[in-house]
Amino acid sequence: MNAPLLKVENLAKHFPVRGGLLRRVQAQLKAVDGVSFELEAHRTFGLVGESGCGKSTLGRTLLRLHEPTAGRLWFEGQDLTELDTSALKRQRKQMQIIFQDPFASLSPRRTVYETLREPLDLHRIGTASGRKRRIQELLEVVGLRPEAIHRYPHEFSGGQRQRIGIARALAVEPKLIVADEAVSALDVSVQSQILNLIGDLQREFGVAFVFISHDLAVVQHISHEVGVMYLGQLVEQASVERIYSMPTHPYTKALLKAVPKPDPQSDDLDAAAASVLEGDVPSPIHPPSGCSFHTRCPEAMAICRSQTPKSINIGSETDPHQVRCHLVDPALSLHIKHE
Ligand code: SF4
Repeated sequence: MNAPLLKVENLAKHFPVRGGLLRRVQAQLKAVDGVSFELEAHRTFGLVGESGCGKSTLGRTLLRLHEPTAGRLWFEGQDLTELDTSALKRQRKQMQIIFQDPFASLSPRRTVYETLREPLDLHRIGTASGRKRRIQELLEVVGLRPEAIHRYPHEFSGGQRQRIGIARALAVEPKLIVADEAVSALDVSVQSQILNLIGDLQREFGVAFVFISHDLAVVQHISHEVGVMYLGQLVEQASVERIYSMPTHPYTKALLKAVPKPDPQSDDLDAAAASVLEGDVPSPIHPPSGCSFHTRCPEAMAICRSQTPKSINIGSETDPHQVRCHLVDPALSLHIKHE
C-alpha cells in the first residue's frame, strides 16, 4: 500500500502566554493539541469547528508556517519536521495555502501578473517569456480572462480575487492546498462557483485539499473525510458519509443540530452552535480537566470531569470512524453504568 500524501501524528502547536513586568512565560495556549489524521492524494479532508477551536493554526502548522511544538508530519513519506530551511523551501512548492480574505492576501500595489509571477520566480519555474504564457493559462484555468493580467486587485470582485488567490496557489503545481475559510467571505452564489472550481481543479490536476471551514454544509459538499475540531483536538473523524449520517460525538451532534440555522440570513456556525450548546468555548489557555467538552456537553457524566477520553475507532479498519468520547469506550461502559 502507498504512503498517504500527508500523515499527521500527534501534532501540537502551543503558544507561550507571557505576563508580568519581565514578560515571563506564565502559561501555554494549546491551540493544537495532539492531532492525527491521514490524507490521500486527490482527496479533501474537511476540518470543521467553531472559531477559536484551532483549525487555522492546524492548517498553518501542517505547512510549517507555524513550527510544531510536538508531533510528526510526513509528506509523501518525508518527515517535514526534520527539514532545514532550504529543504523546506523546496518542499513548499508542493504545499500551498489559500486564505479567507482574498483582498487582504493580495498586494493592492501589484498587478495580477506580478502577483502570479512571484511564486514562479521563487521556485524558478519556466523561462522569463514562458512565465507570462503560464500566468495567462492559469487565469484561464480559474475562469478569468488572460487580459486580466495587467489589472490590480481592486478592479476585481471578491469571487474574482479568490480565483486569483487560487491561481497563485496553483502556479507551482502543488500536490496539497490548505484552503483556510477560502469561501467564507463570499456571497452564497459566488461560494458555490468557487467550490465547483475547487472540485474541477481536484479532478483535473489531482490536488489534495485540507479544507477548513466553520460551515458544515460547505464541508459536506466538498470533503471526502471530515475532522471535527474542539479546543485543539479532533473529537470525531470519519468519511463524510459517516459523519453526516451517524454523528456520534455530542459536539458533532450539536453542530449538526444547529443546521438549518435559526436565522436564515446567517451562516454563522458560532451563533447557531451557541443556540444549541450551553456556554462559551472555554479558553485554550486553561482547558477544562478530563474531556475538554464536559463544560458544555449535554451528556456529560462524572467521569468526564476527571478522565480524558481516548480516540476510539467505532468503524472498521477499511472505513474508520474515530470518536473521542467515554460513551463509546467499551472498557468504561461498565464503570459508567455504575456511576
Ligand atoms: Fe460528553 Fe463525556 Fe463524551 Fe466528553 S466524554 S463528549 S463530556 S459524554
